[in-house]
Amino acid sequence: MAIITSVEEYTARHPKSKALYEKAKRLFPGGVTHDLRYSKPFPIYVTHTKGAHKWDVDGHKYICYYNGHGASILGYSNPVISEAVKEQIDKGTHYSACHELEIELAERIQKLFPMAEKLRFTGSGTEANMMAIRLSRAATGRQKVIKFQGHFHGWWDHLAVGISPPFDQPATAGLLPDDVKYTIVLPVNDEKALGKALSKRDVAATIFEGAGCHVGQVPVDPKFAQAARDLCTKYGTVLIFDEVITGFRWSPGGWQATIGVKPDLTTLAKILMGALPGGVVAGKAEILDMIQHRDDDPNWNRFSRVSHPGTFNANPLSTAAGIAAMKLIETGEPQRKADAMALKLRTGMHGIIQERGIEGAAYGDSSVFHVYIGPCNRPTTEYNPLPPTSADNILEDGMSQAVRAGIARNFLFNGIHSPHLGLTSMSHSDEDVGRTLEVFGESLDAMIADGTIKPRA
Ligand code: PLP
Repeated sequence: MAIITSVEEYTARHPKSKALYEKAKRLFPGGVTHDLRYSKPFPIYVTHTKGAHKWDVDGHKYICYYNGHGASILGYSNPVISEAVKEQIDKGTHYSACHELEIELAERIQKLFPMAEKLRFTGSGTEANMMAIRLSRAATGRQKVIKFQGHFHGWWDHLAVGISPPFDQPATAGLLPDDVKYTIVLPVNDEKALGKALSKRDVAATIFEGAGCHVGQVPVDPKFAQAARDLCTKYGTVLIFDEVITGFRWSPGGWQATIGVKPDLTTLAKILMGALPGGVVAGKAEILDMIQHRDDDPNWNRFSRVSHPGTFNANPLSTAAGIAAMKLIETGEPQRKADAMALKLRTGMHGIIQERGIEGAAYGDSSVFHVYIGPCNRPTTEYNPLPPTSADNILEDGMSQAVRAGIARNFLFNGIHSPHLGLTSMSHSDEDVGRTLEVFGESLDAMIADGTIKPRA
């Protein structure tokens, strides 16, 4: 069956989504409520989800690899989570008070992340990173922060640099010049550069995006993570692992459990609350205790304490969903299923790329796939086993915009909701993978035929 590539045919098949988009454009900038949802010629409007699938207002079914932006490893509308939410909703969504659920969830996180001596819930992953940096600055009395090229940590101002090339430029308009003045952006896996920057002993925190930038697009070498651990200890810098994506996905205990390196602080969100809103910063008691109230020092609470309100911190609805999610997550079974499907996708896609005789690779780790079409010249490494990739060119901006857009568009037009990178859940099936590979192959053929993808030089 030939795939659809024509905008006219897509438009004709999606009259209701198109009409909603026309309304949305009058209400929202760009017509959307999240940058990732901007898509051409217009996005689909979804009515409901189940497992690995979603349905749009025009009645079309999609296989989804956006995966709740990484939150839905348990599959959409997982009945266990739905039950927990239904049960909680009549008891209350907000108590304006402490409750037992927050204690149970914290204890479950602690079991999976033994470094979590103390924890503080936040409203999102971005907020967890904001708090991790604020705590690091308060605990060390230093201002600077090191982050790595391509690593994304949410949309907070102080970390809004070095996400996409050129890495020395802010990632967004609207910042004060000083917002990123104290943020040092370094190349990943460069131990020498990190050692040099830390040796001045004026860096409060070094933060990593778990397995590597943009969901492992350029993987972090575990040896580098260990070197960062040693260097941060030596120079008195707080080491933060942002496990907002990798936490509970790479393994029940996140990326850190797979590589055996213990950060001082870990940030988590997404899967944490069963795909409901919320996050957490967890780690060393001496750092987290910067938030505690103290009666022994009259100046502490007003001048030295790190303050942290937040209306929806540990709200009972998210927390109830989080506990239900953790009961499944701690078995390791969802991760095994999701990993197996992602491996099939990566292997299948890589084979399809090679069969076409074009330059490129499908690669990734855990329940993630990345497609890169273009020259791949870095040798295979232990931490990035499938297949050769290059930290220099496996950055999404290194791949032709037309090819990136073409893959996403051909997927969308043919019942697959995914960009050129995606995440699987425990609900994806062999049938889903088979259909995805079929569309992927035909999509490459169409782009080779119309000249969007050039043959190997
Ligand atoms: N850190 C990482 C690694 C992320 O991928 C994201 C979101 O995608 C965030 C932080 C921000 O999380 P949130 O969207 O919950 O603010």
